[in-house]
Amino acid sequence: MALQEHEIERLAEGVVRRGDLPLLGRDPKVTYRLGIMGGTFDPIHNGHLVAAEQAFDDLGLDVVVFMPAGRPAFKLNKKVSSGEDRYAMTLLATSDNPHFVASRFEVDRPGVTYTADTLEMLRGIYADNVELYFITGADAIADIVRWRDAGRIARLAHLVGATRPGYDLARAERAIEGSPYQFDVTYLEVPALAISSSYLRGRVSRGQSLRYLTPDAVTGYIHKHNLYGVRQTRYGSVEGDAYGRRS
Ligand code: NAP
Repeated sequence: MALQEHEIERLAEGVVRRGDLPLLGRDPKVTYRLGIMGGTFDPIHNGHLVAAEQAFDDLGLDVVVFMPAGRPAFKLNKKVSSGEDRYAMTLLATSDNPHFVASRFEVDRPGVTYTADTLEMLRGIYADNVELYFITGADAIADIVRWRDAGRIARLAHLVGATRPGYDLARAERAIEGSPYQFDVTYLEVPALAISSSYLRGRVSRGQSLRYLTPDAVTGYIHKHNLYGVRQTRYGSVEGDAYGRRS
């Protein structure tokens, strides 16, 4: 399909994008590596951003697409912020990095989000010279054998499990080794993953600062949209006077 000029936006060298997905694979003699950063991102934080940047560097990826899960498969009975809010925060957090892209690919899909379906669709979009790298938390990787169509995932993508230092990989390794499928997994140790979304949510509800834990634009969004039981404090919408002093 011919691309319209307005559909093309130059990102990193040799990378253009259509809609919100990067267009890779133009040169059939070149092998491209597409990183897909999968997570609920409720909210996105600096740990996610550092993990994606490290994966980009260590694995020689061409671009990393952050893909907030639409309706996360294992969280159907948990309260999760809307896909719109999680996508908006992801877009804000990734906007200044030329090789990061935020995608609506999963949030716009009705029904439960299954990674196997996502990867199958991406495989249909990209040419064979584009390899898929699905990046997520090592805890999630440990569960992957229980995911729907785990064998299909093994065939479609390399897996990247991001962990914090000191994290015990034994559970993930046992699960992968004991599985009947040939998963190709790389583990990345990411110090910044001491930060977690639940830690941030707790801090917001207690009226504590998020500075240096997530980009300020994300903090602003959380306060503006009253996410996570935001308490009106000097860190966000101001309680007290214009200087944040409480009476
Ligand atoms: P989760 O169980 O909430 O996360 C498990 C751990 O991994 C948490 O510590 C989490 O920390 C961390 N984590 C999650 N995504 C990460 C990322 N991209 N980079 C670094 N750490 C990450 O996992 P989830 O967010 O629901 O799901 C992760 C991905 O797996 C999503 O793309 C989801 O769609 C997919 N998934 C698919 C199936 C299925 O197809 N059946 C089932 C489950 C999950 P934070 O809370 O700080 O992110």
